[in-house]
Amino acid sequence: MNNLSIIINKLSQQHSLTNDEYKMLLLECSKDDVDHLARLARKETEKIYGKNIYIRGLIEISNYCKNDCYYCGIRASNTSCDRYRLTDDDILECCKEGYALGFRTFVLQGGEDPALTDDIICNLVSKIKELYPDCAITLSLGERSKESYKKMKQAGADRYLLRHETATAEHYALLHPSKMSFDNRIRCLYDLRNLGFQVGCGFMVGSPEQTPDMLAEELKFIETFKPDMCGIGPFIPHVATKYHNYTAGSVDMTCLLLSIIRLIHPCVLLPATTALGTLAPNGREKGILSGANVIMPNLSPASVRKKYMIYDNKLSDGDESASALDSIKNKINSIGYNIITSRGDVYKPKK
Ligand code: SAM
Repeated sequence: MNNLSIIINKLSQQHSLTNDEYKMLLLECSKDDVDHLARLARKETEKIYGKNIYIRGLIEISNYCKNDCYYCGIRASNTSCDRYRLTDDDILECCKEGYALGFRTFVLQGGEDPALTDDIICNLVSKIKELYPDCAITLSLGERSKESYKKMKQAGADRYLLRHETATAEHYALLHPSKMSFDNRIRCLYDLRNLGFQVGCGFMVGSPEQTPDMLAEELKFIETFKPDMCGIGPFIPHVATKYHNYTAGSVDMTCLLLSIIRLIHPCVLLPATTALGTLAPNGREKGILSGANVIMPNLSPASVRKKYMIYDNKLSDGDESASALDSIKNKINSIGYNIITSRGDVYKPKK
């Protein structure tokens, strides 16, 4: 056995590697090694979740944002961004359409919009829960106080997605203005977990100035934090950001990371993201064949979809659109998987 085979064996048996071993995997895998890792990852997914792919209806509720993340197209200082905020009625209409299509999870995502107060969000969550008690609600509304998260949990929210963006504090400081803090982002993740949310973290692959050491640190972070969900997708430049002429992250590297993350933490819910689908025609299928088991088609009203442009050319219609569910189902079936109508909660092994 060569060194890489020993490392791959160790990963699939112990679910843990040193940072140097992670780095070796990322830098030295041959095409055969990548395929082998993907096969092992699929096997792990199937042991827990079978051939089922969970769907989430993504509703992008507002593109107002008080933050200025340097890479993001809806950052506060992008004056060319056409801002919108959905009303409760708009959002309930999306849920109605989604429910009829078979969605049993609604993901309410938005920029950090100061107008979305705790009362407004909690009211909305309660209304959705009242109308659709068999559905899960995932929120993805950025950093808030523990008190605010607590109210949302009490109102009925089940899950919260907050990508940590990078597990290296210096890298975080490079990608964000000084008033945003890495420590606060991580604090949010732990608060959410302690409040009983199913918690999702995540990072961009190939983000500006990211190094292999940083990617190894990402994998170590996943190993220690053990998120219920993990959203990773390639960084894609946006024309109105200072990184507009940077190269996008790679689809192959994202897929390799998906496989490794599945092997580190087999029960994690792992989406094949829109960013993957934006960069490659079969990006979503490639993600699933690398170990992903969740997709998040867009349920937002057609009139606002193009306004939630966090990176250039972000897909929002065609198979990204929830209304194209039949076509999505066919594509997923063609690679041997099935889309199912269920909340799709994370599997928690009994201790
Ligand atoms: N405001 C919420 C938050 O901070 O978590 C959710 C909205 S935020 C726009 C959703 C995610 O978009 C971010 O966590 C980030 O990883 C991703 N994103 C932003 N700009 C991106 C880019 N240029 N390329 C790829 N992903 C990007």
